[in-house]
Amino acid sequence: MPVNSTKNKNKIIVQKYGGTSVGDIEKMKIVAGRIISERDRGKQVVAVISAMGKTTDELLALARQVHKTPPAREMDLLLSVGEQISITLLSMILNTLGYPSISLLGYQAGIRTDGQFSNARIENVDKKNILKHLKTGKIVLVAGFQGISREGEITTLGRGGSDLTAVALAAILNADRCEIYTDVDGIFTADPRDFKKARLLSFISYSEMLELASEGAQIMQTRAVEVARKYNVPLVIRNTFKKNSGTWIMGDEKLEKIVITGIALDKQIDQIRINDYSKETENFLNIFGKLAEENVNIKIIVQGASSNGNKSISFLVSNENLDSVTRVLDELQSRRKNFFYEVDQDVAKISIVGSGIASTPGTAYRVFRALLENQIPIYSISTSEIKIACVVPEDLAETTVAILHDAFGLEHVKRRKIA
Ligand code: ASP
Ligand code: MG
Repeated sequence: MPVNSTKNKNKIIVQKYGGTSVGDIEKMKIVAGRIISERDRGKQVVAVISAMGKTTDELLALARQVHKTPPAREMDLLLSVGEQISITLLSMILNTLGYPSISLLGYQAGIRTDGQFSNARIENVDKKNILKHLKTGKIVLVAGFQGISREGEITTLGRGGSDLTAVALAAILNADRCEIYTDVDGIFTADPRDFKKARLLSFISYSEMLELASEGAQIMQTRAVEVARKYNVPLVIRNTFKKNSGTWIMGDEKLEKIVITGIALDKQIDQIRINDYSKETENFLNIFGKLAEENVNIKIIVQGASSNGNKSISFLVSNENLDSVTRVLDELQSRRKNFFYEVDQDVAKISIVGSGIASTPGTAYRVFRALLENQIPIYSISTSEIKIACVVPEDLAETTVAILHDAFGLEHVKRRKIA
């Protein structure tokens, strides 16, 4: 019986509940209630559950107490425990409420990954077992964030990986939608914690979401959104503890184009500026090669050259990479007479994201003008099809977000679904 035939297609929904949603038994009972109400509506529910509260962090801390760099295999096997606790407890709660359910670890749910511990990729999902249990009317609870490698080892999918488990299952089961339940109402035009005028978005496209997420709006795991885009899985992000419709995430083609959707702020960055007065052209290439070897991810690069051949370049790195960067640059500076660099840690990156940026002339001009009129210095800027990013002084970061939010009238933007 092919369950993704049209007849059954819309019966399966995949839900995912994050750690804060299952933080204690009382919260788990609320989650159980949510699952049950879908079941009562005739849906077949597959719920992917994260570890309770801060369990994963606590397990990590325990491991570090006994080992500076815990063996990867043991670490993954340890971290996978958190989700095992939450699925089993939740299954027991559902059972006491009279709803048959079964909890499945990643391998029991057929999630096969490569062998890269702590950041494994899902290679395929064998859905047989899940379908078997759904068919008998059970609610299926799946441990998020874990799978099994070909060698039979338990792997984990990177922090926040339960999102990926949910999206992958929704794709393979051809689910009607994948609902991500969390402790926020959805995606906002800006971070609502430091900006009161921020508005909840009803719709956002995968690409816009990816830009916002990779710019520090940490609501969903980036890889999970990428997989959702690839397989066109409709996503909705909602608050577990509220009745709200949340934010729907779907393909660009289904949404009205909009100039600016939202603004993200990233303060965890540092700006590096290099002056090279030597005449060697190889230097910069060298630097980036060495940084790549150190796995440093470079954002926004601005190169300047003066008429006398001196070269300068500046770029951004995430501040967790700063140590590796200074190690590489110190080494170069000690060997080369005419090579100097400086680090500015008091910078922030503001990213303005919207599917209509490329097709709306004058958007960058509006950004520049708004910042100039408000005496905000711009250290560097970069634009892409759907993003304008600028680097500004860190102490002016929130002000800058507010200025741009007003300049583009984000408080009032309404967007429609067109397909
Ligand atoms: N428990 C894992 C983590 O804390 C996976 C998840 O919650 O999505 O990263
Ligand atoms: Mg998460």
